[in-house]
Formats: sequence, C-alpha cells, structure tokens
Amino acid sequence: MYVLAHLGIASLLARLTGGRNPRPPVDFRIVLLGSMIADLIDKPVGFALGISGRALAHTGVFAVGLTLLAVGVQMRGRNGLLWLAFGHWTHLLLDGMWEDPAVLLYPGFGWAFPPATATVFDLLLRFQDPFVLGGEIVGGLLLVTLGYSSGLRSWAAFKRFVIAGELPSRTNNRMHDR
Ligand SMILES: [Zn+2]
Repeated sequence: MYVLAHLGIASLLARLTGGRNPRPPVDFRIVLLGSMIADLIDKPVGFALGISGRALAHTGVFAVGLTLLAVGVQMRGRNGLLWLAFGHWTHLLLDGMWEDPAVLLYPGFGWAFPPATATVFDLLLRFQDPFVLGGEIVGGLLLVTLGYSSGLRSWAAFKRFVIAGELPSRTNNRMHDR
C-alpha cells in the first residue's frame, strides 16, 4: 500500500466511524496525517540508517503508546490525537503488519530492526503490481469522492480545509441545525 490508498481508506473509515455529523467534528487533516505518520517517520530513518522502512513507527509498541497518549489527552477534553491514532492503526492494517511479526511485536524478536531490502527504485517498481496500483487508484477515487461530497469543490474551500480543517458540508449542517 502506498500514499493514496492509505489516505483514502483511512478517510473513508473515519467517515464511517464518526458518522455524518459527529460531535466534536472529525478533523480529517489529523486522520490523514495519522494514516501516513508511520511512513513519514520510518522511511527517512530507514534510508538514513540502512534499516527497513518499517521500523519503530510500525511496531505495536508505538501504536499502543500513541493510543494511550491519545486517550490521556482525550481525558483532558481534546480528541485530536485519538483520530491521529485511528489513522495510524489503519496504516498498520493496510500494511498487513501481521505478516511482519519481527517488527509488529518488537522487541519480542530482538532489538535490531531488519536491514533495508529495497531501494527507492524498488519501491517505485512495486507500482507494476496490480494490487498496489489498484489500491492507489481506489484511494485516489475515495479521496476525490469524499472531498467532493464534503463540499470541497473550489480552491477556496480546499484552502480553508488545509488551513483550518473546515468542511463546507459541516458548516451547512450547522446552519440547518439552527
Ligand atoms: Zn507503512
């Protein structure tokens, strides 16, 4: 799984989990960040250290730690981190981390992470795999569909979403609620 598949499927699952008009509203920017945070941390570290691109941030310890931290922050009245953890769990699921128990159950199999087995070029070659390419197409279509149905139909609306996390559909719902 690559970028669009992670972003699109995490957003869909957050939409399904949060319902149509959740209170407090879901900040989809946090979900999107959570869905990629494992790769944002591990890929550069992996290339720098010559270890696998699935390392510390792909472990169960990291996911559980992030979730506990999120629950702690939630108890103080803020739910942003919970959606970050939610996005992160979808990432581990879509990466099929159960097939990589040495990383998922770290440090149960030893302290060292597996060495790098793929170069950037190898990663790009994986797009020849119909499963990977199909996942990216589905993820991209999901992002477009979810964005469009949330009212992100103009550059101005998209900018408001990026800067403030606002979705036009939510603003309309609030007006209907009055
Ligand atoms: Zn990953």
